[in-house]
Amino acid sequence: MKYLGLPLTAKRLSYTDCSSLIGKIYNQFQTWQQNKCLTYAGRLELIKSVILGIQTYWLSNYILPIKALEKIDSLCSAFLWGHKFHLVNWGSVCQGKEYGGLGIFSAKYWNYAAATKLLWLIHLKKDLLWIKWVHGNYLQNQNVWTVQPKTNDSWMWRQLLKMRDMLVSKFGNVVTARIADCCSDGKLLLSAVYSVLLQPTNAVAWAKTVWDGFLYPKHSFVLWLACHSRLLTKDRLCRMNILSTNQLYCVLCDRHQLETRDHILFECQYSGEVWNLVMSWLGYKWRSCTWDLLLHWYSQKLKGKSPMKKLKRMCLSAAVYMIWRERNLRIFQDKKRLPAQVFRDIKLSIFCKILNDSSHVHMK
Ligand SMILES: [Zn+2]
Repeated sequence: MKYLGLPLTAKRLSYTDCSSLIGKIYNQFQTWQQNKCLTYAGRLELIKSVILGIQTYWLSNYILPIKALEKIDSLCSAFLWGHKFHLVNWGSVCQGKEYGGLGIFSAKYWNYAAATKLLWLIHLKKDLLWIKWVHGNYLQNQNVWTVQPKTNDSWMWRQLLKMRDMLVSKFGNVVTARIADCCSDGKLLLSAVYSVLLQPTNAVAWAKTVWDGFLYPKHSFVLWLACHSRLLTKDRLCRMNILSTNQLYCVLCDRHQLETRDHILFECQYSGEVWNLVMSWLGYKWRSCTWDLLLHWYSQKLKGKSPMKKLKRMCLSAAVYMIWRERNLRIFQDKKRLPAQVFRDIKLSIFCKILNDSSHVHMK
């Protein structure tokens, strides 16, 4: 039986009960996949906006079986990458952007965060009918953090208490303080709870360089992949046994150099010429540079909101994207262009953005 689109059951919620939700997400992905022009950035946006919207209703009302949550996550991961190579693992993708991820909310942890919110509402004794019912029937003046489940309690209540146990084992007796930290203006922010539950890894210095809102999302995505060294360069394809050792040369310089991320983006004579043009356009004297040095320089010296710094960050992402695109055009479409033509494309993309974007009048 369904009520307001959700299965109504007092018993255990099974994987089959969730099949309508999983089917809905699956069908949505099938429709989108017919569009072959979707970039990584486009796919990311669809997952973050539409798919989260579809699941949130379910995730905020039930604690779904782990198998169903993992199925949703694996569907999202498969759609994001669009091929069998998942370039960055799902756990890292679901970290916040400041921690090197893409800021996708994984179904599993979003569900945990939503359950935490239910516990928090019970803890606060919010003036809601169902909370009064829970206090009257299950708690009877006991504390939600210490109450023990009874055998005839409903499945849903026991699931909630399992979630409580997980929180208590994670945070000990400061559990309420940790949750209270996630509140803003008296409201619990699910995204804040989510990142506390995920226990983020170390913050990355390049996050603001890569994810400046002013950049083209598709440029940011390629730059992000480059930062993780996960572009499908030939050295990586060889390690995956897709290319043989005599196919690994860089297509940009014809110098029989191994195609690695650092070579194709920086050490290569061809990309060096592109960087020279870009940097002299920006008024810098460019000498050969390594990937790490450049990224460090950008993260330290070119941070901030001034229009000129935004423009310089844009040059970095556009140059990386265009060099990578040139490499792909050469391999897959047999098109060759000179560094000056690539530089022209970089400038064009930047002008297009600035001149067409009404919110950045000051930059014009
Ligand atoms: Zn080269």
